[in-house]
Amino acid sequence: MATAAPRSFPDLLARYEPVIGLEVHCQLLTRTKLFCACRNRFGDPPNTNVCPVCLGLPGALPVLNRHAVTLAVRAALATNCTVHETSVFARKNYFYPDLPKGYQISQYERPVATDGYIEIPAPGGTFRRVGLQRIHMEEDAGKLLHDGFPWSAEKSGVDFNRSGVPLIEIVSLPDMRSPEDAYEYLTALKAVLLYAEVSDGNMEEGSLRCDANVSVRLRGAEALGTRAEVKNLNSFRNVARAIEHEIARQVAVIEAGGRIVQETRLWNADKGETATMRSKEDAHDYRYFPEPDLPPLVVREDWREEVRRALPELPADKRRRFVKEHGLPDYDAGVLTLSREVADYFEAVARTSANTKAASNWVMNEVLRKLKETGEALADCRVRPEGLAEMIRLLDAGTISGKIAKDVFEKMWATGEGARALVEREGLTQVSDEGPIRAAIAEVLAASPDQVATYRKGKTGTLGWFVGQVMKRTGGKANPALVNQLLKQALEG
Ligand SMILES: [Zn+2]
Repeated sequence: MATAAPRSFPDLLARYEPVIGLEVHCQLLTRTKLFCACRNRFGDPPNTNVCPVCLGLPGALPVLNRHAVTLAVRAALATNCTVHETSVFARKNYFYPDLPKGYQISQYERPVATDGYIEIPAPGGTFRRVGLQRIHMEEDAGKLLHDGFPWSAEKSGVDFNRSGVPLIEIVSLPDMRSPEDAYEYLTALKAVLLYAEVSDGNMEEGSLRCDANVSVRLRGAEALGTRAEVKNLNSFRNVARAIEHEIARQVAVIEAGGRIVQETRLWNADKGETATMRSKEDAHDYRYFPEPDLPPLVVREDWREEVRRALPELPADKRRRFVKEHGLPDYDAGVLTLSREVADYFEAVARTSANTKAASNWVMNEVLRKLKETGEALADCRVRPEGLAEMIRLLDAGTISGKIAKDVFEKMWATGEGARALVEREGLTQVSDEGPIRAAIAEVLAASPDQVATYRKGKTGTLGWFVGQVMKRTGGKANPALVNQLLKQALEG
């Protein structure tokens, strides 16, 4: 089939509207598996956490893990879903070597929760809702091991440690319209799951896995296009890349007069493209029926409300409180509340420094930047909230200049030394005496007669250059406001 000439992604989006829904599988942080007492732990030697139930041996019966239900309900409430008093486990029948029973215990017609939403950042510093269709509980399958063994060239192994690990599947409505939306949705969803302590959110270890349903339609069209499901998305970055690629592929097929077929496609991160994996099964292919070995799951009001009361303040509520209490812009509050640790850190700095604006600027610009650069966890970083607050107070009191503050911060980060101790030991106190500043100004003016002449001819925009020179001569310690004032006097007087 001929392919249309490639066009830029923004060009495609001008004519076509992508419609994206995401299905996220999330492993629950339980000590044991969903239907047996085997340990739920990543990284143990293969097939060490197994028993007749999770190996699917004949006659073994499942017993539901109550804590897994509590976590599923917690996730549902944290995502604004309606939790149903009665839900039903169902058998999803299919064959695969990692599924010894020949079926997976899941929920189908009656999931534990439906109709929720997640808030994601929207243009203009606001937030908007992405709807959740449902959350259902299910057990994980085992894992095929294709690489890394002496026999990997001839055969694959199977590890059943993961078989029976509790999962929730969180299915969004097709409410996303761009790869960025999908990225923001996953970021926000992960934050909620971490706050609620439902999951560790570790994508590398497979505790969070995402499939994307993608279709395109001409802008203004009502009917949805045929969708393809994209699998094998192992990072948020890859989700966005895969969706962008899939949108471009579908538009190219349509523009060449072709038709999109409903199928499952696999994302190849190395090649940066999706490829056909299999034609998409319909639900009836799985022959779902109610699980005969388990009674319906009943979550009465008192249990549900007990779970609700135990929920911590969630990211969206925290964000709104930061806006109200600390007067932060929506966007800043959103960044600071993405992780509970960062939010707590910020609040400690704000409280101790009594300067909220400075606290949010330093945490957003410097602390988050350093964490990203170094890959450190906030818990391990040596600049504690009290230390940063002390530095902000020195800055507010005019003891150090803004420029020196950046250096002090870097040194605090590297050594863990306190701000005041560092400033005193290194003699970094800001110079606000007029004498030494006047002396430095005199030196700068004497050394640059041409620049002085230019300034005096009316090019007063060069003042900044003079300020820079004076700051250099004073080792960055001069009070910049005073330098400005005295420089103007010297140049214009
Ligand atoms: Zn087991």
